[in-house]
Amino acid sequence: MRIVVTGAAGFLGSHLVDRLLGEGHEVVGVDSLITGSPVNLAHLRENRRFHFIQADVTRYIGVNGAVDRVFHMASPASPKDFPRYPVHICKVGALGTLNALGLSKAKGARMLLASTSEVYGDPQVHPQVEGYWGHVNPIGERSMYDEAKRFAEALTMSYHHQNHVDTRIVRIFNTYGPRMRLDDGRVLPNFMRSALRDEPIAIYGDGSQTRSFCYVDDLVDGLVRLMESGVDEPVNIGNPEEVTILEFAREIVEIIGSRSRIVNEPLPKDDPVRRRPDITRARTLLGWEPRVGRREGLTRTWEDFRRRILAEDAKPAR
Ligand code: UDP
Repeated sequence: MRIVVTGAAGFLGSHLVDRLLGEGHEVVGVDSLITGSPVNLAHLRENRRFHFIQADVTRYIGVNGAVDRVFHMASPASPKDFPRYPVHICKVGALGTLNALGLSKAKGARMLLASTSEVYGDPQVHPQVEGYWGHVNPIGERSMYDEAKRFAEALTMSYHHQNHVDTRIVRIFNTYGPRMRLDDGRVLPNFMRSALRDEPIAIYGDGSQTRSFCYVDDLVDGLVRLMESGVDEPVNIGNPEEVTILEFAREIVEIIGSRSRIVNEPLPKDDPVRRRPDITRARTLLGWEPRVGRREGLTRTWEDFRRRILAEDAKPAR
């Protein structure tokens, strides 16, 4: 097939591109490179089945020729991006999704929207089932992302019903693995960076908040299965193994063999207290479930992070 991936230079996008190329497809990657990095695609420079278009999805997504599938992965997504690009994030969710749907409609392609567990906000239902409508502060510090993705889902369903575009919606929970941005401010890069340098690991709040971390290969497998399924309702993809942030910090210290101490810093506003996907729908409708346990996933991720952090440290200071 000929497949478009928006956000191709991002963490998830680039792993998805690798998987699709590995399956023999032709891939057109689109990325503005605002938060994505060409380094994530550098290994594909010689690949004749991969084409890259640097473009901002909020303006127009121009792709020549036939397109069978569109994976709409583009969006700044880390909490550190939220205060930096609030208006752009709203535009990516709204205009970017509109353009991805417009492209899909014009080409007769099937489109998958990368939505998020953030549509559930600070959830009052636990674990989160797809039928839960969420608990989002519409003007809070995460609202640009949460509401943009909620709108993106509404737009996707509207195109599905009114314009008969074949659509899929995945709600992605916390995911980790090689190629995550070292400085994206998320918990895993922060912890690994501090642990490698034996610096204090900063836990926001008392560390009793929970997350459920999915290894990137499992996540990508879920995306591909959902795209090729007949399921047009939203599907959670994530690892249901829940862990407190304090336990997570201890695990990383132990795996790395670091001498870091754990310290506490203030909890950011609207930080969800608990998060864990109910993956019954993915299990029953897609036959999907995660295979990579946290210890194995963290060890694989650590190898990549260690190499990149050491390379960064070795660069002369400017
Ligand atoms: N967190 C932390 N220390 C850090 C970065 C994050 O304790 O250096 C906490 C954060 O407050 C949140 C959890 O780890 O409760 C996951 O944060 P992340 O930014 O990775 O993702 P999200 O909040 O979007 O799930």
